[in-house]
Amino acid sequence: MSGKRDYYEVLGVSKSANASEIKKAYRKLALKYHPDKNPDDAEAEAKFKEAAEAYEVLSDPQKKQRYDQFGHAGVGGAAGGGGGFGGMDMDDIFSQFGDIFGGAFGGGGRQRGGGQRQRAARGTNLRVKIKMTLDEVMDGVKKKIKVNKLVNADGVTFKDCQTCKGTGRVQRVTQTFLGAMQTASTCPNCQGTGKIIDKKPTDADSQGLKRQEEVIEIEIPAGVEDGMQLSVGGKGNAGPFNGIPGDLLVVVEVKEHESLRRDGQNVHYEAFVNFADAALGGSIEVPTIKSRAKIKIEPGTQSGKMLRLRGKGLPSVQAYGTGDQFVHINVWTPKKLSKEEQDILSKLRESENFQPNPDGKEKGFFQRVKDMFSN
Ligand SMILES: [Zn+2]
Repeated sequence: MSGKRDYYEVLGVSKSANASEIKKAYRKLALKYHPDKNPDDAEAEAKFKEAAEAYEVLSDPQKKQRYDQFGHAGVGGAAGGGGGFGGMDMDDIFSQFGDIFGGAFGGGGRQRGGGQRQRAARGTNLRVKIKMTLDEVMDGVKKKIKVNKLVNADGVTFKDCQTCKGTGRVQRVTQTFLGAMQTASTCPNCQGTGKIIDKKPTDADSQGLKRQEEVIEIEIPAGVEDGMQLSVGGKGNAGPFNGIPGDLLVVVEVKEHESLRRDGQNVHYEAFVNFADAALGGSIEVPTIKSRAKIKIEPGTQSGKMLRLRGKGLPSVQAYGTGDQFVHINVWTPKKLSKEEQDILSKLRESENFQPNPDGKEKGFFQRVKDMFSN
């Protein structure tokens, strides 16, 4: 991947080029290096592929953004399942053309050179949702789930498709602005696989598949977040005509903890502290993800104080660093008081030490939040 040319350079546009300029530049190159105009010219084919790859990235706002930020590494294996670029298939390139040339090249937009391999049909992706507790997020978890999926039925035999003679493509001659052109498109009878079913058991459908419940074990790494999607390659629906299976997409749903609130790798807990403990000092016990922790309350603790339990948060899904648990102190003001308690407090009301924030140095909520975000 290292020797790649800059995509903007490939298309001959500036980094500030807009979508229509990028499209125009690609269109020009695609016409110039089109295999139909440069038969048996390996260099033209390489240029044609290079331009298609550059266009594939620069025409997609998300990929373009990643490319602008990280270069080729940003769009490397990120194409999702297909292993990225490096081998952009001619079929993929021609599938871009509908949109670029407005159908000028007909269906597939290419003369077939003969000996074209059929394309194996790919099964569809399956999507499942997995619920996890914070405890499970902490360590990662293996879960067995039951899915209802399409599998290859036993006893199915195939034969060559008669429509395309097993090539997977049908051809026709069309008139284009580049002259008469033989174009090929995917065979509608076999969906490009070149095969149709010869014999099949009664429970198999017309593509040789049947539905079946299957138990799949999924390993979910530690640190995942609600809404994350994991892809398990090849565990989706089987491909039609003995093709390639799709992927199993696992969407993670993290259940809310009864008393801890998650924020990324950190968790927060709101503790209520006895009024006397806050004044005299004491200790409280708070829940953590895995167990409980004892916390010392210093004499003179104010409501709103935040304590940090280092390393009591969650690991990162990238496997480095662990979050913390923050304990937010609320001093509990008694709501019901006996006559005796009222008398004691009444005597203290005017006491000098009971007057709030006499030197103005104690920080309130807003100042604490400000401090928290400034370091
Ligand atoms: Zn066919």
